[in-house]
Amino acid sequence: MKLIIASNNAHKLEEIKAILGDSFDEILSLREAGIEHETIEDGETFAANAEKKAREIMLLSGCCALADDSGLCVDALGGAPGIYSARYAGEHGNDAANRQKLLRELKGEENRAAHFTCAMALVRPNGSEVTAEGYVYGQIAYEEAGQFGFGYDSLFYLPEYSLTMAQLPPEVKNEISHRHNALQALLEKL
Ligand code: IMP
Repeated sequence: MKLIIASNNAHKLEEIKAILGDSFDEILSLREAGIEHETIEDGETFAANAEKKAREIMLLSGCCALADDSGLCVDALGGAPGIYSARYAGEHGNDAANRQKLLRELKGEENRAAHFTCAMALVRPNGSEVTAEGYVYGQIAYEEAGQFGFGYDSLFYLPEYSLTMAQLPPEVKNEISHRHNALQALLEKL
């Protein structure tokens, strides 16, 4: 079965392909599938956004489509930035500005508990869909550390490793990430 991943984010694609392994005959990004499409992410939950993205790509391609929506939820900020993680500092996808804003918002805050959430949605050509969520729990560090990953990884500290997500080799992140956990949950439902 051919699967189109509703994303062109190279980091996410690598992570998803590494986790799915040989569960599908062929896994293509939007670009590889020749699809140019931007979904308006106006859902109120991660799951609603993932479902919307996957459904639009299934309708455009006629193929099975997988989409994720993910973000960082910080306890002391009432779950923010949440579904607004990619544009926390205003401009969509400015990871460095988003991290700076997060550090500013948490200045003087001792409760650093946070988790990444990922919602995955798979929509089949017959319209049926399967969704699942995954999480990874950690703490927001006081300063950035690490070169791997993307987004908030260099600020996301994992006490059990004594490292930030950006200090973990990608293959280790792929085994513990919210995306991994969401994909596993989704695969179990398929
Ligand atoms: P999405 O592309 O709409 O799912 O937005 C996800 C945003 O949440 C990204 O731009 C990142 O800021 C953040 N994010 C999601 N997953 C991760 C991750 O694995 N590491 C670091 N940041 C992430």
